[in-house]
Amino acid sequence: AKSAGGNRFELADPEADARAITRHGLTTALPTALERGEFFIEYQPLVHLGDGSVRGAEALVRWLHPQHGVLGPDRFIPLAEHTGLIVPLGRWVLEQSVRQAREWRELHGGVEAVGPLRINVNLSPCQLTHPGLVQDTVDILERAGVEPDALCLEVTESALIGADDDLLKPLRRLAEMGVDIALDDFGTGYSNLANLRRLPVSILKLDRSFTQSMQQFPADPVDLKIVEGIVSLAHSLDLAVTVEGVETGAQAEQLRILGCDTAQGWYYARPGPPERLHELALVDAAG
Ligand code: C2E
Ligand code: CA
Ligand code: CA
Ligand code: CA
Repeated sequence: AKSAGGNRFELADPEADARAITRHGLTTALPTALERGEFFIEYQPLVHLGDGSVRGAEALVRWLHPQHGVLGPDRFIPLAEHTGLIVPLGRWVLEQSVRQAREWRELHGGVEAVGPLRINVNLSPCQLTHPGLVQDTVDILERAGVEPDALCLEVTESALIGADDDLLKPLRRLAEMGVDIALDDFGTGYSNLANLRRLPVSILKLDRSFTQSMQQFPADPVDLKIVEGIVSLAHSLDLAVTVEGVETGAQAEQLRILGCDTAQGWYYARPGPPERLHELALVDAAG
C-alpha cells in the first residue's frame, strides 16, 4: 500500500487497507473457489401465511473461504458481478437448487400432504443480460427432470427499472414456459406501479423494510395503508405477495391480516442445509 509518494491516508487507516486487500484477495480467489467447490447453498423456507405450510425455499449462496470462514453473499456477489464470474456461479447455484428441488420431490413422493416443494433462485442483473440464460435454464430443468413451474427466479425491482424489451424478452420466454418470476426487494426501487403490468412477473416480494415497520402492534397506520394498497394492487393484477424478514409472530399476523400470501424469515426458520427443509416440511405435514 506504499506508493512512491507515500500515501498518508492509506497508512493512517490500516483497516481500510486491510479491507481493500481482502476485497482484492477475494476477487482473485473467486474463480478457483468455484472450481474447488468452496460455495454452498442454504435454503430458507417459504411458508403459506394462511395455513402455515412450507411451500418451498429460497436458495442463498455462501462461500466457505479457507482462511476467512463462511462469507455471506453480500461480501462476494458484488465482486462476482464486477468480474463476470456471476454468470458461471449463478448457473451453478441454479443447477444445484433445481437438483435439490428434484430430491425433495422424491423424498416427499409418498407424503401426499407436503406436495411439491418449489425452489426460488436469485438472478443477478448480469445474468439477465447474458444471452445463454434461457437455454441454460431449460437445459438445467431438463437434466434434473424438474417441471418449469417448480422454479421461481427472483429479480430485484431495481434491475428492471426502465428495462427495455430486450431485457424483458428472456424473462418473458421463461414465464411463458411456466417459470415464475418474482420481483425482489419490492418497494425500494421507486418503480412506477402502473409499470408492473408490463413486466412478466407473477410474484411481488415485499422488501424487509415493510415487515420491520410491522414491529409495533398496532403498526403505524400509514405503513399499514401502504402495505394494504400494494397487496390490493398486486392481487388485482393477479400477482401473489411474499413478505421477507418476518422475525416475530406479531409481524406474521399483521401481514396475514393485510392479505399477504407467503412469508419468509427467522420467525419460521433461518437459512439452513437442505435436510433441514425436508424435516420442516415433514413436521408440517404431520400436523
Ligand atoms: P435477498 O434476496 O433479499 O435475500 C434475503 C436475505 O435476508 C438473505 O440474506 C436472508 O438470509 C436474509 N433474511 C432472511 N430472513 C430474515 C429475517 O427474518 N431477518 C433478517 N434480518 N434477515 C433475514 P443473505 O443470505 O445474506 O443474502 C443477501 C443477498 O444476497 C440476497 O438478498 C440476494 O440479493 C443475494 N444473494 C444470495 N444468494 C444469491 C445468489 O445465488 N445469486 C445472486 N445473484 N444473489 C444472491
Ligand atoms: Ca431474493
Ligand atoms: Ca429480497
Ligand atoms: Ca434484500
